[in-house]
Amino acid sequence: MHPHVAGLMEDVKAKNPAQPEFHQAVEEVAESLVPVLDKHPEYRSAKIFERIVEPERVIMFRVPWVNDQGEVQINRGYRIEMNSAIGPYKGGLRFHPSVTLGILKFLAFEQVFKNALTTLPMGGGKGGSDFDPKGKSDDEVMRFCQSFMSELYRHIGPNTDIPAGDIGVGGREIGFLFGQYKRLANEFTGVLTGKGLNWGGSLIRPEATGYGSVYFAQEMLATRNESLEGKRCLVSGSGNVAQYTVQKLLQLGAKPLTLSDSSGYIYDEAGIDEEKLAFVMQLKNQRRGRMKEYADKLRGVKYTAFDASLDHNPLWGHKAECAFPSATQNEINVRDAQRMVKNGVYVVSEGANMPTTADGVSVFLESRILYGPGKAANAGGVAVSGLEMAQNSMRYGWTRDEVDNRLQLIMKNIHSACIGAAERFETPGNYVNGANIAGFLKVADAMMDLGIV
Ligand code: NAP
Repeated sequence: MHPHVAGLMEDVKAKNPAQPEFHQAVEEVAESLVPVLDKHPEYRSAKIFERIVEPERVIMFRVPWVNDQGEVQINRGYRIEMNSAIGPYKGGLRFHPSVTLGILKFLAFEQVFKNALTTLPMGGGKGGSDFDPKGKSDDEVMRFCQSFMSELYRHIGPNTDIPAGDIGVGGREIGFLFGQYKRLANEFTGVLTGKGLNWGGSLIRPEATGYGSVYFAQEMLATRNESLEGKRCLVSGSGNVAQYTVQKLLQLGAKPLTLSDSSGYIYDEAGIDEEKLAFVMQLKNQRRGRMKEYADKLRGVKYTAFDASLDHNPLWGHKAECAFPSATQNEINVRDAQRMVKNGVYVVSEGANMPTTADGVSVFLESRILYGPGKAANAGGVAVSGLEMAQNSMRYGWTRDEVDNRLQLIMKNIHSACIGAAERFETPGNYVNGANIAGFLKVADAMMDLGIV
């Protein structure tokens, strides 16, 4: 490890104990930035990176609510306002029992660079709660969301901080959150993105992250004069990102083979087609059921239950050319990465945030496969959130094609920004360095202009 990175990591670990995901995210970016800081001593003396790792503000609050049995429940709510150098804080809310301060800090940190890459004026933030929407009634989810927003509303605003969805926060939750915000603030503004189409939402926002990650894979393949046509694809997750990844893959002639949830995964050798995808969408978005039902309903599908005693994830062991991890962080470890490369995977486009462990990333980089890290590959979601904000400000809505074309252009630009930065700093084809450097430079230059704040 470079001595500057080692010193920095020592401080970050001492100041942020027991937050391994945050340390992991910071270390990866710090390693990429060594040549940049060597070339630009002014960033080092202005302590730009040391400031970037310190959130501008962290809000932590109690979220009390009453369940259907009349019992009082208490969850913890958070909002990390990480960096506002290039625009208001922007980033999703995650509702999942695994949510901790450290997880949200890693996500907020990643968001700063990702948002800079989109070319839109958005700072970075992230928030959420350890609330688990799984198994809760719609009424319980509504009461939770209302209590959560009763505190959060005083910290956010359309020019201050604009949350969106993430794991466990989809259209239903955004609706309840927006309803309560509107009631408390007595104003109808674009304070959240991912809104319903009838109340300020943008066309293509639900599709954006999954579509964007496939567009990014397409761009990476184009550097080798190849396309997605006929490619076998491993997809993890079965939520928002996974569903629209599969939809776009089908439109481009690829063959998605897998989907998962936290209980297990399905392998469908014949391929997941439009009809089967419609079943998954109904299962997950309306009935809120489990992926096992896919295998129960369809012939020739293998279901494998999640097994915590394994040192690898069998989903990644199937033969394929492409992989779209779209569930959660650290779902691909070093063994998975080795098996993927051995089995022929040479395109990885990360729909999820930091789905690959640090040593897994090293395997991809050493193998010189086309590896698109989350901050670049899944930036389409927040990019269309930015377009939703633009439409809200204009009080006007673009057509589906207009938004989709802008999304495609943004993904193309992110891809070339990554390629360009990686080349300038002498690691051609390394999208990890490219994304970290290009995102950093935009934020760093803005911070230099704004003084010591
Ligand atoms: P989602 O709709 O809630 O779906 C999440 C999926 O991942 C579900 O299938 C879920 O299974 C699975 N999952 C969640 N936690 C898991 C765990 N600990 N172990 C195994 N499986 C797990 O969420 P999403 O919006 O698709 O987000 C998926 C990933 O994309 C996340 O990393 C998120 O940060 C990232 N992302 C999302 C957006 C966006 O616009 N939504 C944008 C950029 C990045 P269960 O149903 O069993 O929980």
